[in-house]
Amino acid sequence: MTPAPVDLRSDTVTQPTPAMRAAMAGAPVGDDVFGDDPGVNALQEAIAARLGFEAALFVPTGTQSNLCAILAHCGRGDEYIVGQQQHCYRWEGGGAAVFGSVQPQPLEHAPDGTLPLAAIEAAIKPDDAHFARTRLLALENTLGGQVLPQAYLDEATALARRHGLATHLDGARLFNAGVAQAGQGGDAWAEARRIAGGFDSVSVCFSKGLGAPVGSALLGSRAFIARAHRIRKMAGGGMRQAGVLAAAALHALDHHVDRLADDHALARRLAEGLDGIPGLAVQPPRTNIVFADLQGEAAARGAGLIAHLRSRGVLATGLYRLRFVTHLDVDAAGVDRAAEAVREFLSRP
Ligand SMILES: *Cc1c(COP(=O)(O)O)cnc(C)c1O
Repeated sequence: MTPAPVDLRSDTVTQPTPAMRAAMAGAPVGDDVFGDDPGVNALQEAIAARLGFEAALFVPTGTQSNLCAILAHCGRGDEYIVGQQQHCYRWEGGGAAVFGSVQPQPLEHAPDGTLPLAAIEAAIKPDDAHFARTRLLALENTLGGQVLPQAYLDEATALARRHGLATHLDGARLFNAGVAQAGQGGDAWAEARRIAGGFDSVSVCFSKGLGAPVGSALLGSRAFIARAHRIRKMAGGGMRQAGVLAAAALHALDHHVDRLADDHALARRLAEGLDGIPGLAVQPPRTNIVFADLQGEAAARGAGLIAHLRSRGVLATGLYRLRFVTHLDVDAAGVDRAAEAVREFLSRP
């Protein structure tokens, strides 16, 4: 019997667990546009309290969460400083510019994923009619699976505050960063709080490694969340009986945070399995994403490799740079199969 394919394309592909489905099925609901959904209210209160914010807003997607955040921090003609590779610059269709007339000021990342402090400082525009008003610094953690150093986050947010900028963290994978930063036996929630603590607002995805089908939360002060709530309505994100979705998210917060360590261990196991394959340069993973660059002659064979993997029951993405993401629905046999299939393809002429 052929085993089910192992899907390493993204941590968004997870199926809700039976316990999560049971939580969803039993959720009491109300109309959240009237503020009546008990599950949405409970989720918003729980995540705000646990991460140390005054308030939170449940939104359908991380993209909408970042959009609400940028538009709640910035007005028309304002500017946000952001990294070239960050989701809220590169991967969201330019939404902040399209819907908010907010100009991005993208910066190159250092190899460790940070935006160099000197580059941030140099990008902050003086108060002059020639320039957009620089209002916001947006960072992302984890970024491509990398954990930004806590000392860097502290310095970057302090720099922003000194210059009167607001700060936003795209923490789609905040808990992966928290788990990695806590290390074995550490307190992942305490580290997540520490990472989030320096920022005025934070966005967290439930639909990535946490394994919920849908949803993100935006966190901030009560006044900020009130502004974001209005923008969410304009963006079409006012959902009605959303408690079925909030129940999945709350279940994930209660049961799927610490287990992210398992995903990180599987990513390390996969990287070890790929190590030494000719034509492949593997980046040692810090969290749940493994990148492997195809080099030399192998670089021309990326599309063939992805097709070969599919034929062996392994789904992955990439052309010159392969990307494998581990999650709730991946096991050791699956990552071993992936490494073996890559080895098989690249070892033959
Ligand atoms: C996935 C992701 C988002 C957006 O989430 P969607 O729910 O897919 O809109 C935002 N930021 C980062 C870093 C992400 O990985």
